[in-house]
Amino acid sequence: MTIAPTESNVATLIIEGAHLIAGEWVPAVSGDTIEVLNPANQEVLARVPRGTTADVDAAVQAAAAAFPAWRDTDATTRGALILRWAELIEQHENELDRLESQEVGRPHWGTPPMARILRFIAGQADKVSGLSLPTHSPDVLGLTLREPYGVVGSVIPWNAPGPMFVNDAGAAIAAGNTIVIKPAEDAPLTPLALARLAVDAGIPPGVLNVVTGYGPEAGAAIPVHPGIRRMSFTGSPATGAAVMQACATNLVPLHLELGGKSPQVIFGDADLDAAIPAIVAGITLNTGQICAAGSRVVVDRAVHAEVVRRLAEEMARVSVGPWYEPVRMGPLINAKQHSRVLGYVRSGQEEGAELVVGGGVPDGEVFERGFFVQPTLFDRVEPGMRIAQEEIFGPVLSVIPVDGEVDALAVANGTDYGLVASVWTRDVGRAVRMARGLQAGQVAVNAALGSGVIGGPFGGYKRSGFGRTMGADAVLAYTQVKTVSIRGTA
Ligand code: NAP
Ligand code: MG
Repeated sequence: MTIAPTESNVATLIIEGAHLIAGEWVPAVSGDTIEVLNPANQEVLARVPRGTTADVDAAVQAAAAAFPAWRDTDATTRGALILRWAELIEQHENELDRLESQEVGRPHWGTPPMARILRFIAGQADKVSGLSLPTHSPDVLGLTLREPYGVVGSVIPWNAPGPMFVNDAGAAIAAGNTIVIKPAEDAPLTPLALARLAVDAGIPPGVLNVVTGYGPEAGAAIPVHPGIRRMSFTGSPATGAAVMQACATNLVPLHLELGGKSPQVIFGDADLDAAIPAIVAGITLNTGQICAAGSRVVVDRAVHAEVVRRLAEEMARVSVGPWYEPVRMGPLINAKQHSRVLGYVRSGQEEGAELVVGGGVPDGEVFERGFFVQPTLFDRVEPGMRIAQEEIFGPVLSVIPVDGEVDALAVANGTDYGLVASVWTRDVGRAVRMARGLQAGQVAVNAALGSGVIGGPFGGYKRSGFGRTMGADAVLAYTQVKTVSIRGTA
């Protein structure tokens, strides 16, 4: 299906130039705005407030004012309000999908997951429970309460703004916290539209506050604010370290979801008919801008030549273009990301990897004003090369040949990251050994990018971060434990 690029629905979903503080749509205190661009043609989609410390301060105050009543709202009601939010999202599913495509630049990639993410979270709201504990004396009861932190802060990236937003905000408020959340400057529109639906659903003013702005201004103001009691950050390791330093100074607990360099390990007995398309989809979906993207193919030399030949064929079939055309891959998000990805392609060539497919910018008028790159395949990549170690966040796949299982595991684990990993084999024993041996927060056997597990906890090993989202404990993670002892009086 081709959609007219001018068919924008930004205006029906967001209020231009305003973000959400205390249930009101307000401009930045400074009055300044930021332009949000369509990455396929650099046209301005909308302007959002350029929030700074003053806006964050107002939002934290609003969240603090809303906290006691929200904490004391019974969990059934909190869950019901989140379910209502999910219903409204479903009713606006197509517009939200379109909006996210416009700002991120991705073609339609299936039913947006926001409603189902929130339904899963809403179901946990009234299942947060403590323990009863043994005591030293029969006239004492011992128990634990799970209580919300208070005002929590969150900073999210641009690559999947809708799912990121509801995942974090939903879990935080389900537990009875109130939240101040800053979306990325490149993709704040879907979060703002989702926040508008939260207001329509009846989630009270001040429970959910969205401050838009630049990372070093609005983002940096959140973890250092004295009113913040817990922080969550999703983004790059460098920014994650800066947020962690701010949290250290402010003594605020932190949940970090960072990057990845996820391996796709292929053994000689693998079902290549299944593996090849899944691996190519995994590195070209969202133009490779997915934290869990499988960017390293660690392949046994027994099938190395065949794998490279088939990956090359499949990659050459990936159509590239603006999101509103029937293509599989859109542009990268911005000019910085464009030069970064092309820089890695040059680095791969300079370090001696063999460029098999792509490696440049596609030719043609339609590509001239957008941040397009070709799907790119490198072969004969050495484990120590930068393209094998560093997260590119683009559609660049590196093939690293290995000899046998021990070598495969060492190479697969040989980066600082540990977000997800896949193994392709028909040998159950080997699958079990690899599933145990791979250092990653999620391991998939004969599947890429997870495999449709409902409620699988998501998060990193090593420098991919710490803490887990999306699982049955997602709401619990937004609570702190209080031990209560009650001595009965005579
Ligand atoms: P980024 O540059 O770290 O930005 C992430 C967020 O942090 C943005 O909202 C950004 O704001 C903000 N920010 C920038 N500087 C800040 C500061 N000093 N203090 C507080 N906030 C600040 O990351 P990105 O390039 O947007 O996103 C790509 C990265 O995210 C990749 O490494 C990817 O792997 C990772 N990621 C991880 C997951 C996961 O679940 N593990 C999911 C998605 C993405 P502005 O953009 O407005 O400046
Ligand atoms: Mg943009």
